[in-house]
Amino acid sequence: VRRDTGQEFTSGPRQQREPATPTRRPYCREEKSARVPSFADFGLDPRLERAVREAGYQTPTPVQSATIPIGIKGIDLIGTAQTGTGKTAAFVLPILHHLLSNPVAKPCTRVIVVTPTRELAEQVTQAFRQLGKFTKIRTSAVYGGVAMGAQEDPLRRGIEVIVACPGRLLDHIERGNTDLSHVEKVVLDEADRMLDMGFLPPIKRILKTLPRKRHSMLFSATFAPELAKLIEEHLDSPRRVDVDLRALGGSAL
Ligand code: AMP
Repeated sequence: VRRDTGQEFTSGPRQQREPATPTRRPYCREEKSARVPSFADFGLDPRLERAVREAGYQTPTPVQSATIPIGIKGIDLIGTAQTGTGKTAAFVLPILHHLLSNPVAKPCTRVIVVTPTRELAEQVTQAFRQLGKFTKIRTSAVYGGVAMGAQEDPLRRGIEVIVACPGRLLDHIERGNTDLSHVEKVVLDEADRMLDMGFLPPIKRILKTLPRKRHSMLFSATFAPELAKLIEEHLDSPRRVDVDLRALGGSAL
C-alpha cells in the first residue's frame, strides 16, 4: 500500500533554499508554488465541470485533490476521510467521468456504492444526480424499511449506478432482481461504520458476486484491523490517502 497524504497535493513543489546573499527574489517560482488547485486540473468531462461550477464548488478539497487523479486512473484506493471533507464528490466525479468516457451499448449496472445507512445512501444518490445532471447517467438508492417492489424496477432494467445498504442489496441479489456481472466499480463508503454495524458478512457476500476484475475504492474515518483484512482480500494493490483534519484546522471545507 502506497501512502499519500491529502496535504501533499495542496502544498505545491518544495521551495529551493535562498542563496546566502539574495539578489532578486524568484517571484515566478513562488507564484507557481502558491497556485490553488483547480477542478480543471483533473481533465474531467466538460458536463461534469459544468455541474461542479453549478454546485458552487470553487476549488477541490484536500481529499478531492488527492484522490480524484487516483480514481480517474482506475487504481484501487483507500481514503481515510470523514464526512464533511468532500469525500463523496471525490469518488462520484471519477466514477461519472469513467462512465462517460467508456459508454456501453446495452444498459447495465456498472457501479455499486455500499453505505451503512439509508440517509447516507440518499445523500450519495443526490450527489450522483447533482454532479451527473448534464448527463443521462441514472442512479437509484436501495435500502431497507421500504417495500422491495418499488426498488425492483430500476434494478431489473439495469440502472447504471446503485447506491445501497448491504442487507437490502443482498436481498435483491438473492431474489435475482439485479445482475451485477457487469459491475466495473465498487465503493465501500464509511467502511468502519459498516463494520461496527455488523455488515461485514453481507459486504463479503456482495463482493463475491462482483467480477474479480474491477476498480474498488474504500472510504473510512478510522482504520480498524478488520478493515485491513477486508482490504487485503478484496482490493488490488490499493493506494492509501490520509486526510488529516487536525492538520487542516479541523475542517477541510
Ligand atoms: P461530504 O464530505 O462528501 O459529505 O461533503 C460535505 C459537503 O461539502 C457537501 O454538502 C458537498 O456538497 C460539499 N462539497 C463537496 N466538495 C466541495 C468543494 N470542492 N467545495 C465546496 N463544497 C464542497
